[in-house]
Amino acid sequence: DFQFPKDHESSSSSTASSLIQRDVECMRDYYRSGITKEASWRKSQLKALLSLLHDNQEHIFNALKQDLGKHHVEAFRDEVKLPKIALLSTAQVVHEPLGLVLIFSSWNFPIGLSLEPLIGAVAAGNAVVLKPSELAPMSSSLLASTIPTYLDDKAVKVVQGGSDIGQLLLQHRWDKIFFTGSARVGKIVMSEAAKYLTPVTLELGGKCPAIVDSLSSSWDRQEAVKRIVVGKFGTCAGQACISVDYILVERKFLSTLVELMKVTISKMFGENPRKSNSIAKIVNEQHLMRLKGLIDDPLVKPSIVYGGSIDEDHLFMEPTILVDPPLEAQVMADEIFGPVLPIIALEKIEDSIEFINSRPKALALYVFTKSKTLQRRLISETSSGSVNINDAIVQYAADTLPFGGVGESGFGKYHGKFSFETFSHEKAITKRSFLTDFWFRYPPWSYHKLQL
Ligand code: NAD
Repeated sequence: DFQFPKDHESSSSSTASSLIQRDVECMRDYYRSGITKEASWRKSQLKALLSLLHDNQEHIFNALKQDLGKHHVEAFRDEVKLPKIALLSTAQVVHEPLGLVLIFSSWNFPIGLSLEPLIGAVAAGNAVVLKPSELAPMSSSLLASTIPTYLDDKAVKVVQGGSDIGQLLLQHRWDKIFFTGSARVGKIVMSEAAKYLTPVTLELGGKCPAIVDSLSSSWDRQEAVKRIVVGKFGTCAGQACISVDYILVERKFLSTLVELMKVTISKMFGENPRKSNSIAKIVNEQHLMRLKGLIDDPLVKPSIVYGGSIDEDHLFMEPTILVDPPLEAQVMADEIFGPVLPIIALEKIEDSIEFINSRPKALALYVFTKSKTLQRRLISETSSGSVNINDAIVQYAADTLPFGGVGESGFGKYHGKFSFETFSHEKAITKRSFLTDFWFRYPPWSYHKLQL
């Protein structure tokens, strides 16, 4: 039972502000209760809206008369009833390119994350400036040397450089900015884009959880662990936006899972993973030191059950498993983006729903379970860019699915036809013939016209 302040001017601004804060929190709680997702709720609200219009027509007409001097019939036509004028028209959607678009990509998949949006932008008919990441300089310069020789270099350009060049590019007017990178820079991009009301797509990251149910068959367990291990340590050494960031598991299954992870890591990367050629390096020293800092935290160190060593000369970090690090530690607050995998034990696997809902919305959510109920509950009771059942990472390759985040993991979507749509404007076209018309759509207004 809550009410936004009815008249902000009559209350002091600090009272209004605390009332608004209280009401926003109440509404968020109400939303979380799940009631607005029920079909019955939605129907009842739409019916209520219809009743509101029926019951209050006279008040609406009076208000529109006083505010805008609108005649009763005009008000009825435009604000209360859907126009009959739409009859006898044809309707069509035409996709038009947005114009000149700017694409920022990140270093972890420097070719793929540059070309994938470029395909959509070119397919939709745009001119494109691509700014790859300076942290993958060989890939950036390869893009810069090849793209202009293969594509029309008057319409597609590659601009190399770091944040300074990024900033300079952002000072110009673009018809769309497609950004892949961190939330920190995403905010800068969005605020610069606001100057020209430029639409943006933000492909960001975050902490993607994997919920691993206590699987009973040993085959299922091994398959689940293999898919997690290759998706985490065998995919750019965990430097992927959709990498499994941490695992949630029932306490009774914890030791089995940890043992299986250790065995699987050594099967894939050998007894000494440092010698393996199947694990990517950490992109640079700064990132290696950031990762080292996460596990060197004295509160986190005792939770290391596997790995933990680094090789500075080769920018290598061993696959590292943590069990129950403190939830307030940096490793459980920031996106890890490297080969460190915390496992958090819960009493019941269903507790994962609350755990996930108390954190920012993830780009991907992974669940390894045969329970249809758990699958259904995670889909309907949590929010994330995608939900992936019994595998990790592979959703990226499904071109028939939209790829993108929600909440803090970004907004907008691409891949396949969604890329084409992201770089297009859907222009609505209507067409009427001159042959027929409705005499009652034209003034002077009379109540007789209203009856029709
Ligand atoms: P980043 O934000 O540091 O850089 C991204 C791009 O922005 C680069 O091209 C960089 O040069 C440019 N840039 C950096 N600072 C800038 C500034 N001040 N002004 C203008 N441009 C600037 O991100 P990153 O380190 O390249 O990538 C890591 C992040 O990207 C992670 O959070 C990861 O999850 C996310 N990511 C998301 C996806 C996805 O598809 N959703 C894919 C890969 C990476």
